[in-house]
Amino acid sequence: MAKDSSKVPFIDLREQYAGLRDEIRAAINGVLESQQFVLGPHGAALEHDLAAYCDAKHAVALANGTDALTIALAACGIGPGDEVIVPAFTFVATATAVVRLGARPVFADIDAATFNLDPAEIERRRTPQTKAVIPVHLYGLPAAMEEINSVATRHGLVVIEDNAQAIGARYKSARTGSLGMSAGISFYPTKNLGAYGDGGMMITNSEKVAAHARRLRDHGQSGKYLSAEPGWNSRLDEIQAAVLQVKLPHLDDWTAARRSRAHLYNELLAGVVGITTPDTPSHSEHVYHLYTTRIHGESGRRDRVQQKMSSLGISTGAYYPTPLHLQPIFAGYGHKLGSFPASEQASAEVLSLPLFPELTNEQVERVVDSLTKVLKETS
Ligand SMILES: *Cc1c(COP(=O)(O)O)cnc(C)c1O
Repeated sequence: MAKDSSKVPFIDLREQYAGLRDEIRAAINGVLESQQFVLGPHGAALEHDLAAYCDAKHAVALANGTDALTIALAACGIGPGDEVIVPAFTFVATATAVVRLGARPVFADIDAATFNLDPAEIERRRTPQTKAVIPVHLYGLPAAMEEINSVATRHGLVVIEDNAQAIGARYKSARTGSLGMSAGISFYPTKNLGAYGDGGMMITNSEKVAAHARRLRDHGQSGKYLSAEPGWNSRLDEIQAAVLQVKLPHLDDWTAARRSRAHLYNELLAGVVGITTPDTPSHSEHVYHLYTTRIHGESGRRDRVQQKMSSLGISTGAYYPTPLHLQPIFAGYGHKLGSFPASEQASAEVLSLPLFPELTNEQVERVVDSLTKVLKETS
């Protein structure tokens, strides 16, 4: 497919599809011919393959990544009145997954260097009601799991990883998703392993948590038309599972391509004034769901840079421009500007650059050239 060389999209899924078109169409056609659309062989095979991929014992296929977090929490016994510590800087679903259960998200600040939950915050924010903590491996970089697990163990907190952005990442050589009691993965189309619609997976090493999650995704049924608890209707459909089965064997190659573009960005942006490039601790393997920089300078500079980049035909993103404690839904929680300084600063400064496996080195160079120029013109 010819590329419009004057523009660089933030993400473009068309080329990936073009390379897999025949296989994907055959897989979808197979589901249509089988006429089995929910809880069938593709979902079961994907669960098996994904558990193996994450070095975990069990995987439970669900309707989306948010449900994966909610059902993971519910399967671990979190419910009304419980408190769950979540970073103040993440996608809102990390916290709404908690709210859904009648439990309360308790915000914690991030470590400015990694954008991930600051483990020291767990001790500070903990109360006798705290039952769990959700570290988010934001942008594809693992959170400080050793420190987080050690505080959690000391206080009997359940650790649920939000692995929506980090499938395939490693922390001290172990896969993310296998490092806590349970984890949620998202197959939203733009995620590193994306379905052609919504999808998600809960991962766990606990047989008990997996079995409970299997009941919860299917109306709480423990036998045919026998329900002991309400549960949800949250099942991955067979068409999505079939698409994901075609894609999973390519994930490592796509991740390698993301890394190589990210390293090129790092190299070309080294020494450019006014920007910080992402830093990966040596014990972690980043999967670069997003390549996120910080834009330093006067208030609003990130937004001005973003606008100028857009006028040059380059799409960038701000993930996420409003920290959770300043979101309208959490207005009643009593937080204000200044409550979580590192999260607030990140929200004001982050700028994600175009990144997807098919992005070319020439496109990376074009982004960097434009950004260097824009940074010189913008204070
Ligand atoms: C995408 C995402 C989710 C939610 O996943 P969905 O499949 O969209 O429900 C949760 N947390 C984070 C950090 C995400 O990026």
